[in-house]
Amino acid sequence: MVSLSIRWRLALLYTFVLGLCLLASDVLVYVALDRYLAQEIDDSLSAQAQEIAATTRFALVTGPSTFGYLVPLSNLTVFSSPGLSVQILSGDGQIVRRSENLGDRELPIDRDALDRTQDNQDVQQTIVVDGSPIRVFYHPLRFGGEVVGVLQLGRSLRDVEVALGQLRLAFFAIGALSLLVATLGGWWLARAALRPIDRLTRDAHAIGESRDFGRRVAELPVFGKHPRDEVGRLATTFNEMLGQLQEAYGELEQTLASQRRFVADASHELRTPLATVRTNLELLQRAADALDDADRDEALADALAEVQRLSRLVADLLTLARADSGLRAERREEVPIDDVIRDVYRQGRLLALPREQRLVLDAVEEVVVHGDQDQLKELLLILVDNAVTYTPEGGEIHLGAERRDGGVRIAVSDNGGGIAARDLPHIFERFYRADQTRTRGSEPLRGGTGLGLSIARWIAEEHDGGIEVQSTPGRGSTFTVRLPALATPAPRRVPKVALRA
Ligand code: ADP
Repeated sequence: MVSLSIRWRLALLYTFVLGLCLLASDVLVYVALDRYLAQEIDDSLSAQAQEIAATTRFALVTGPSTFGYLVPLSNLTVFSSPGLSVQILSGDGQIVRRSENLGDRELPIDRDALDRTQDNQDVQQTIVVDGSPIRVFYHPLRFGGEVVGVLQLGRSLRDVEVALGQLRLAFFAIGALSLLVATLGGWWLARAALRPIDRLTRDAHAIGESRDFGRRVAELPVFGKHPRDEVGRLATTFNEMLGQLQEAYGELEQTLASQRRFVADASHELRTPLATVRTNLELLQRAADALDDADRDEALADALAEVQRLSRLVADLLTLARADSGLRAERREEVPIDDVIRDVYRQGRLLALPREQRLVLDAVEEVVVHGDQDQLKELLLILVDNAVTYTPEGGEIHLGAERRDGGVRIAVSDNGGGIAARDLPHIFERFYRADQTRTRGSEPLRGGTGLGLSIARWIAEEHDGGIEVQSTPGRGSTFTVRLPALATPAPRRVPKVALRA
């Protein structure tokens, strides 16, 4: 099947509907006119018959076999006209008289109709003579109360037929012309209405091809200048959708770029310790005998330290990969954050011990948050671990929590070297290490992977909170974690605990 364009379909549908309306109105007018003319002719025949009957004089004659003959005395031709012929018939159907315009022809006589006139009835019928329709009217002629003859009028319907024929022709011509105009007009209107859609299709296609979602389609109105019509709104909606697509595409590109960077950084980070482990193991394999005990121990210790760092790195990478994919199983429960802080404090003491640092547990208010206890502990451990790592020996680290704005603020502060202003905006980025010279090898507690703070931030955000840092180079840093709190009992002050490692 040929598939027509919307333009043609609209135009043809429009024409079809108009055609139906025209046909219905034409048929109605035609039938009404036909009936009206037929009625008019019958009425006029009836009136003429009455008139002839009234003005014709009769004489009663007596014949040998018949009692009465009807003799029309007046001249029937007076009543005839070009389309009208008159005959007078005797009661038994003999033509007694006819108008001159009949010449030598006769109006055919219908016996049946004649019989019916005997009951004093007018009879009308249409007959066809030589292919021409004639309306015949029978009117009984009475004399002395008896039907003594029949007046027969014949009215040619030729003129009516010609007029109706012309009317049909006019209907046909007007109809055909109207349909042609309707088709062309409909097509033109549909084309005008669809032009902005064509434009929109072209624009959208070009945008799709070029993948330039920054472009917009033209917001053309169908008619006039008003852009808020249906097509105008379609273009506006399309443009809004393009805007959202552009935004989503941008975000996707950013995510992809950061994923690529993440993978590149991760590979880079894994390569270095692996190379060290490999070199040391190869050395031990090749020249174990040639090495003295101290060198052998050092090579083994180096390899072990790198393997530990690798484990830590892989664990961190796994955490972040799961975070990215949203796969990490979430355990949400009511977590008394003060208990978690005390737990972290106990573990932190062990971290601070070798560096002779002082870990102080400041006031900790009793607060319950909704979240994953293990994740929250991990978050605080990262901060304490960092504070221990980046604070020189003998330094002081404070840990405390207070209620603020319907939530809790947990602060981990140290009096270490602080963070340079240029590094501050980046320390939460993955693999970002502020001071590249403080290499992991010299850090006995925790090999820096540059992933700790990004994990910490992710955990805080997962709990609808956040993490901030304030730092003064040379004086120390304070990391503050904000978490929303659940309604809890009246805050309970916990005594300040200090411990010198
Ligand atoms: P890393 O594994 O290197 O510690 P993090 O993401 O935990 O990675 O920290 C990123 C960087 O932020 C660190 O390399 C360090 O330079 C800086 N940093 C983090 N915590 C502190 C702190 N308490 N004092 C000074 N610098 C810090």
